[in-house]
Amino acid sequence: MKNLSRSLSISLSALILLSGCSGGNESVYIDTSDTESGDNYFGGDISENFSYNTCNKNIMNDKFTFDGSLLYVSGPPEMTVDINSGQVRVFCDVPGCAHKENSPDCLGYNNFWYATAAPDGIYYTDSDKLCLYDGEQKVIFTNDFFTDYEEENHPDAKNDLSKLLLIDNTLYVFGTTFCYTYDIQTKQLSEPFKVTGGVSLAVASDGKKIYTATDSGEMYMYDFDTNEYKKTGDNIWTVQYKNGYVYYVQYENEIPMLYRADTELKESVKLIEDCYVNFLVTESHIYYQNFSDEALGAYVCDLDGKNAKPIQFPKEDPNVVGKAIVPGLLYITPAGNTDKVCMKGGAYEEYIFVIEDGSDEVSKLISLYDYQDPINRW
Ligand SMILES: [Zn+2]
Repeated sequence: MKNLSRSLSISLSALILLSGCSGGNESVYIDTSDTESGDNYFGGDISENFSYNTCNKNIMNDKFTFDGSLLYVSGPPEMTVDINSGQVRVFCDVPGCAHKENSPDCLGYNNFWYATAAPDGIYYTDSDKLCLYDGEQKVIFTNDFFTDYEEENHPDAKNDLSKLLLIDNTLYVFGTTFCYTYDIQTKQLSEPFKVTGGVSLAVASDGKKIYTATDSGEMYMYDFDTNEYKKTGDNIWTVQYKNGYVYYVQYENEIPMLYRADTELKESVKLIEDCYVNFLVTESHIYYQNFSDEALGAYVCDLDGKNAKPIQFPKEDPNVVGKAIVPGLLYITPAGNTDKVCMKGGAYEEYIFVIEDGSDEVSKLISLYDYQDPINRW
């Protein structure tokens, strides 16, 4: 499983960075008299024209959520990226904040896990809490539930919440092996229920079933009709749902294969050979990355896996003379209800590449250079 470990070690280093230190004795405040005021960074009314479901979360897109033209990028610091204007801002509205790790109340350095855009704000988890940011930080509930699995495997974090999915008005709130549903309109919270047999690296749902892929490569399916879950496969490291189909990556002799199945997982078709876990199915195409070769080539193909074309990345950074662009390992994220695809990559994960859905060319290049944690800079 060398390929997966590469991704896991990247995620782990991101976690370590979260607790890393930076900033030293620098001032925690800046003079904002001549800078843009901090009160409009949020991007306006996110409920306007909001029609986006987030049916999937996996290890490669946990860091993003999308609303309209605003992409929220998990930090530190947390950022918003306007993919139309290219404007990048720290996700913080504390007046005069310098957005350093030691800045008092800087939102950019809060625990802001698995951010998920919804009509009424950004939902996220912070350890054992489900929270909502709608201009203020609000705690929706604190989880005190756990199963034998959490008790045995992470006794110090057995109540922690993790991934969130939003489907229509229902927010699926995951712990390690269990889930709640929370209706964001009626504010009703369900009892917790167990959905999987291990730590879920990926969760997906069509609202009738929940599919998970765990850290030991097992896939599980939970059925809301029977309230039961069962194991459905091995060597499966990610799962997604899109438009009536379940897509999953299963390794065969160390090569990741992309399969598409019906929602009962009765019949499956192999679509792509050598498709790493960071694939994305859009309305009309599949974006994915090879992982067996060192070139990490990225491609777009039709929904049946055919007609693959390599993505054309820009060769040089127009803002830094002579700096070659290496796409590297890509975090591919859906762009909400837009017809775009975003990929975060670069040698230091310093770029957002925006692609019109169906195209093989990057239409906009956005640099996060000024906003990355200093430890990430070259
Ligand atoms: Zn700040």
